[in-house]
Amino acid sequence: MNIQTALLSVSDKTGIVDFAKALAARGVRLLSTGGTAKLLAESGLDVTEVAQHTGSPEILDGRVKTLHPKIHGGLLARRDSAEHLKTIEQHGIDRIDLLVVNLYPFRQAVANLDCSFEDAVENIDIGGPAMLRAAAKNHGTEAGGVTVVIDPADYAAVLAEMDQTGGTSYGLRLQLATKVYAHTSAYDGAIANYLSSLNVAEPAQETAPARNTWPNILTLQVYQKQVLRYGENSQQRSAFYVDPYCPAGLLSNFVQLQGKELSYNNIADSDAAWDSVRSFEAPACVIVKHANPCGVATAEGPLEAYLKAFKTDPTSAFGGIIAFNRKVDLATAQAVSGQFVEVLLAPAYDQDALALLASKKNVRVLEVPMGDGQNDIDVKRVGGGWLVQTPDFETVKAEDMRVVTRKQPTAEQMRDLMFAWKVAKYVKSNAIVFCGDSMTLGVGAGQMSRIDSARIASIKAENAGLTLKGSAVASDAFFPFRDGLDVVIDAGASCVIQPGGSMRDDEVISAANERGIAMVLTGMRHFRH
Ligand code: 5GP
Repeated sequence: MNIQTALLSVSDKTGIVDFAKALAARGVRLLSTGGTAKLLAESGLDVTEVAQHTGSPEILDGRVKTLHPKIHGGLLARRDSAEHLKTIEQHGIDRIDLLVVNLYPFRQAVANLDCSFEDAVENIDIGGPAMLRAAAKNHGTEAGGVTVVIDPADYAAVLAEMDQTGGTSYGLRLQLATKVYAHTSAYDGAIANYLSSLNVAEPAQETAPARNTWPNILTLQVYQKQVLRYGENSQQRSAFYVDPYCPAGLLSNFVQLQGKELSYNNIADSDAAWDSVRSFEAPACVIVKHANPCGVATAEGPLEAYLKAFKTDPTSAFGGIIAFNRKVDLATAQAVSGQFVEVLLAPAYDQDALALLASKKNVRVLEVPMGDGQNDIDVKRVGGGWLVQTPDFETVKAEDMRVVTRKQPTAEQMRDLMFAWKVAKYVKSNAIVFCGDSMTLGVGAGQMSRIDSARIASIKAENAGLTLKGSAVASDAFFPFRDGLDVVIDAGASCVIQPGGSMRDDEVISAANERGIAMVLTGMRHFRH
């Protein structure tokens, strides 16, 4: 069914003029609300104001603009129902085939903690969600329906289909409608979140009520990207849900270039590897097994970084997930192909590297654009509830670190300590990480006692034939007693970085002085469970 009439009403006016021009050039009649109509008219477009179309002016400071049977009848009449079409004709209502709406920026408004209560309330869009929901409901059938666009990134796809058929496919309309409901439900979630953050114990005050800014699950916005074969184990069902506006740099922006279908564990491990590798500025390689790094290194290039990272624990690297923060070239692809690898991640690949990897049909090769985006919240399911927190994206700066021993770390030791600290953040607690020369030498992960993590890390280094003499050690949380520290010093550590904050810090610092090592306190803990 051809698109004849479009209604455009947008707060985010990105790309709207060009899109409207493209629609006009294809013979589409344009209806629009106050601000949008003004912009389009100024750009020389022939546009009819909604107020003129309905015969009802915008009233109540814009609270009522499009809430009118001429609009909602035009959006909701079933295209496959002769009766519906007759009814709208009787009432002089024209069909609206394309709806382009994005909402008052409520989330951005309340993100500013000085936003007044009144401003917040005025930023609650009413007519926009009503139209979006109506249009999405009526996305129709193969025979026709309403196309609804909420994201400027989708303007091009609509035009591309119109050029082929004059209208849009059912598949595209369904996809766009799904996006709408994900958006409107999260939009209402953000409103509920804001209202529930107000301090209702002190109502009716002149200024904005006090607010907490606790992370809230109601703002989650997701759509199903992929149904997975099974979950962590074959008896569990599973699917992968993603944020339609996934921030730049996060894993979910991946494109799979080749290889077997991704599994639940592949995605979980890839996320750990990718988050860790993108935290380094220098060329880095991170190898992950069961959500823990088993080799991390930085070097002058990806090949050298890989060779160093692999040395940490060649046994565990078998069947690992390998991530790079630089383009993978042929030499790196050749080296990686020498081991059994489940998933390879990088921001880009050279053509010859891809040609080589193509011969390893099972290897899943993911291209993930770099970026410094972060999730807004972390969610963990517990029996009957959810634990919600902001992600652990803070890191201490060199100037916030405190040397607490008589021995001062050398510049080289400080560099190794910073490297070890960065790695420890991505290792499951209790984490003990030995490093030297910008590579991991031994990783102790996921133990119930810190002393056992320390022992395991040193055993692993020994198994890999690496020396820990002069190494730098990071501990993700404080040493509760001096015994864990003694283990790492006995193994050869010359300097240690840890948050501090134990009741027995004095005992631990004295032990460091007694044994002549340097110790740095960060004041920030990085538990990871
Ligand atoms: P404009 O800048 O075109 O004047 O307004 C565009 C915005 O108005 C869009 O974000 C749209 O969602 C919103 N909108 C459209 N109709 C109504 C309505 O009847 N009531 C309210 N509160 N907002 C509306």
